[in-house]
Amino acid sequence: SMNPSTPKTVLVTGASSGIGEATAQRLAADGHHVFVGARRTDRLETLVAGLRAAGGSADFQELDVTSLESMRAFAAAARERYGRIDVLVNNAGVMPLSRIDALRIDEWDQMIDVNLRGTLHGIAAVLPGMRAQGTGHVINVASTSAHRVDPTAAVYCATKYAVRALSEGLRQENDRVRVTVVSPGFTQSELTDRGGDPVAQGAARAASEQLAIPASAVADAIAYAIAQPENVDVNEVVVRPTAQG
Ligand code: NDP
Repeated sequence: SMNPSTPKTVLVTGASSGIGEATAQRLAADGHHVFVGARRTDRLETLVAGLRAAGGSADFQELDVTSLESMRAFAAAARERYGRIDVLVNNAGVMPLSRIDALRIDEWDQMIDVNLRGTLHGIAAVLPGMRAQGTGHVINVASTSAHRVDPTAAVYCATKYAVRALSEGLRQENDRVRVTVVSPGFTQSELTDRGGDPVAQGAARAASEQLAIPASAVADAIAYAIAQPENVDVNEVVVRPTAQG
């Protein structure tokens, strides 16, 4: 097993803003090789340039996690460049909030496709390689919404509960691949900026503006899980604002 101080190759999905971007920054500062993906490649290009300017090792590739083909190409590019993948951070996610009776079915599908199917695509793309290596680490970003349900968040919560469930199954089935769930509460990011019912989204934005912790606080939890020895699996970390109910 690897010495914890050895640089690892870490893939981060959804690294063009918020928690993914902060995670890439923290892990690059820790000396890891970070390979970042998202759809907004202009953002990724700026991020990678900044990480390199600060002496870090970073690269990016366009990624749409809803496409298994895109995810497999992303993982293949990382393996080509670094020879192995040590850690996958399944972070990409969307949260267009609305009541179920509003029947915003396209947005339900989007949450299922990105938050749930995207996480499974990530696992499918890296698990065979990790099992062949005899070591690896899958970190899935869930949420406090994986622990409690609130009005207008039913479908979002359903996807996050599902991410916790599949993470536990993945953990049980693998004795040499670490599985970590990181469950943030309100965190500064662009999550409330896109889609959803405007009233529900506005309420979430207001709560977030009042309470939110910096995305770096979640990145710190991810870095902590990675830094443990290979025989220590941090199964779940819940990180939320002290004042969040
Ligand atoms: P942001 O909106 O800032 O970041 C979301 C990221 O996901 C972006 O980089 C976006 O990139 C990416 N993404 C969205 N769709 C896709 C896709 N189809 N393919 C690839 N990437 C995609 O929000 P956060 O940083 O807050 O979100 C990160 C994770 O944290 C999510 O899983 C979210 O559910 C979770 N979370 C956030 C909380 C918060 O309060 N902020 C609380 C609990 C959990 P792009 O659009 O460029 O593709």
